[in-house]
Amino acid sequence: MAFKHIEGNQRAKRILKLALERGRLPNSLLFAGPQGVGKMRTALTLAKALNCLRPGADSCDECDSCRAIDGGRFPDVMVIDVKDEKKAVAIEQIRLLRQMAYLRPMSGKRRVFIIDDAEDMSTPAANSLLKVLEEPPPVSHIILLAASPFLLLSTIRSRCRTLSFTAMTDEEVERALRDDGRREDQARILALLAGGNLRRAMELDWEEVQARKEGSWLLFEALLSKDRSSLFLDRFGSLPKAALEEFGQTLELFSSFARDILLVKLGGDPRLLLNPDLEERLRTASARCPVPRLLAALAEFDLVLAELPRNLNKNLLAAALFSNIGEYRNV
Ligand SMILES: [Zn+2]
Repeated sequence: MAFKHIEGNQRAKRILKLALERGRLPNSLLFAGPQGVGKMRTALTLAKALNCLRPGADSCDECDSCRAIDGGRFPDVMVIDVKDEKKAVAIEQIRLLRQMAYLRPMSGKRRVFIIDDAEDMSTPAANSLLKVLEEPPPVSHIILLAASPFLLLSTIRSRCRTLSFTAMTDEEVERALRDDGRREDQARILALLAGGNLRRAMELDWEEVQARKEGSWLLFEALLSKDRSSLFLDRFGSLPKAALEEFGQTLELFSSFARDILLVKLGGDPRLLLNPDLEERLRTASARCPVPRLLAALAEFDLVLAELPRNLNKNLLAAALFSNIGEYRNV
C-alpha cells in the first residue's frame, strides 16, 4: 500500500513524504498512537518507499523490492514484534538489530527495522537498542511503534523523531474498508462501530455485527416505548467491565437508527440509510416517532457517546440516558 492509498493521518504522512523527497529522513523514528490507526502500515510503506526501484517518494507496490517487502521476504527490512515474542527472543532480536544496523544493506538501498509494541521491550532489550540510537547507523532506519510511548525509556524517546498518529475519522475508515472490497452499506456500519480503529473494523465479523444490530434494534424500540423501556436498564444498568465496548457500540447503533428514522421521516434518499437492511422497520418506527422526540433522543445518544471515554461510571451514564429519554417516550 502506497502513501497515497493510506487513509488518515495526513500530517504524519506529509512529514514523511517531505523528508523522503529531501533525502533527510531521520534514522530513528517513533510512531506514537493508539492501536489500529495505521502505524505499521505507514512504517512498511516507508520501508518500501526507501527501497523502491522506481523513482519518487512513494512506494510503487509493483517492483521486486516493494513486492518482497509486502511478502515479508526482503532481507533488509526486519519487523520485530515485541509483544508476540518471548522477552528473551526480543533481546536476541535487538542484539541482532545492533549487529546488522551498521552493515551495508544486502539487496536494498536502506535497512529498516520496525519494532512493534516497542513499549513492551524488556529493560535489557531497551538498553541494547539505546546503544544503537546513541550512534545512529548511517544506512539504517529504526522505527518504533508504540501505543503508550510514555512507557518507553525517556532516553530512547528523546533520540527519536516522534510522529503522532491519531484515530481515523469514520469517513476515512469507511473509505479504507471500501478500498479493501467491503460493500458500501457494510463499510458504513463497520466504520461506525470501530471508533476510528481500522484494524478493529477489518476484524469485525459481518454476521456478528448483524446479530448485534438485531439485538440493539430490539433494545432501541424498547427504550423508546412506555411499557418495555426497562429492558434497556436490565441490559446496561449494571454493566460488567467486559461489556463496556458493547455499550459504546450499542449507542452507536442507536444513533444510527435514530438518524435513519429521521431520514425516512424527512423523505431523504433511501440510499443514504445507514441501515438499508432495516428499511421496513425504520419506516414503521418513523410513523410513531415525532421529529422533536427523535432529535432529542439523538442528542442524548451523542452526548453519552462523547462522554463515554472520559466517564468511568458507564452504569451511571446508562441510567442517566434512560431517565433523560423518559421524557420523550410515548407509545
Ligand atoms: Zn517499488
